[in-house]
Amino acid sequence: MDPIQQLVDFTRHYYQTNDFIPLHAPQFGDAEKQAVMDTLESTFVSSVGRYVDEFEQQISQFTGSAGAVATVNGTAALHAALYASGVRQGDMVITQALSFVATANVIHHMGATPAFVDISPSGFGLCPDALAAFLDEHGQLRDGACYHKTSHQRIGAVVPMHTFGHPADMDGLLRVCQQWHIPLVEDAAESLGSWYQGHHTGTLGDFGALSFNGNKIITTGGGGMVLTRTAGAQQQVKHLTTTAKVPHPYEFFHDQAGFNYRMPNLNAALGCGQMTRLNDYLKAKRALAEHYQQLFAGTEYQFIQEPENCRSNYWLNGIICPDKACRDKLLTITNDQGVMTRPVWQLMHRLPMYQDCIRGTLPTAERAAERIVNLPSSPLTTKEA
Ligand SMILES: *Cc1c(COP(=O)(O)O)cnc(C)c1O
Repeated sequence: MDPIQQLVDFTRHYYQTNDFIPLHAPQFGDAEKQAVMDTLESTFVSSVGRYVDEFEQQISQFTGSAGAVATVNGTAALHAALYASGVRQGDMVITQALSFVATANVIHHMGATPAFVDISPSGFGLCPDALAAFLDEHGQLRDGACYHKTSHQRIGAVVPMHTFGHPADMDGLLRVCQQWHIPLVEDAAESLGSWYQGHHTGTLGDFGALSFNGNKIITTGGGGMVLTRTAGAQQQVKHLTTTAKVPHPYEFFHDQAGFNYRMPNLNAALGCGQMTRLNDYLKAKRALAEHYQQLFAGTEYQFIQEPENCRSNYWLNGIICPDKACRDKLLTITNDQGVMTRPVWQLMHRLPMYQDCIRGTLPTAERAAERIVNLPSSPLTTKEA
């Protein structure tokens, strides 16, 4: 039977519906309702309240990070993380060519310039070999910092992204970053519940950023979190994201140009409710990934599996089509039948605002961009799958 029709039939059967099947839909229950109602009744809906602290503690405990600071969204978390790691106006920041646009936008809006490097064929995170090659060609160590040879911009950070929840090759990336004295900040927006050799993604670099947008594995409506390696760094980021106000009973004194990036208590309440479901979601996502793997075994479509020694959250399932024509055919047929599938993001250097950015050679990213399709990935926890 045709694998495309098999995919449509499988999702209809799996989700037990003839309605439109989205890529990822959030689910809420009593835990969320109670926490949100409790927040309304307390009137502490805004930037102060117990759910913010509770949510931060829960994330910190779950990920094993020394610190966690809740923010208004994942983009803000990444901005605060990059700022805390020392990135400043005029710097160059290296990231991967295949990512959601927020990664590059944050770099751009800091007055820094993104530079794009290729991804690994396994997991589609930033490739350590490609990073090393890029730095061999463009990097220069001076006074314990790394500079771009011709533009003389300081290379302020390297930002890998754990694509679809699959951990990037952190050992390799950390090795290259240490050699070149460049801070490493993880865009872990998609990878809550993903582990690299027993370490949670976002806790291996200098900082990590999570997102709780509506389409992520758990949601706070909008929200994000900075993960830090030390309690001191947590205080630094908390200070930075809360207008850098020096604690005082009534005086307003701010000791640096801070951000107002704090997550409202109302959103944190939703997050605390969602945390009660995270382990069920992870189980359900893994079960669904196994179904997809079996479905595409022996076909010309290759299911995207977690890299070796990693445990992925399988946030967004994907397959690699044999070529662009097959991909386009699959996209048309499935979407016409109300089963949502989607191509991966445009590579960053193909977007008008980033077309002139410096980049390495991008063979893997170019291949992936033409062939990847993401599949319906909502976790099924209410019915037996
Ligand atoms: C979702 C996402 C972000 C941004 O998170 P928001 O909460 O939507 O601001 C950043 N990077 C990647 C890779 C993402 O998938």
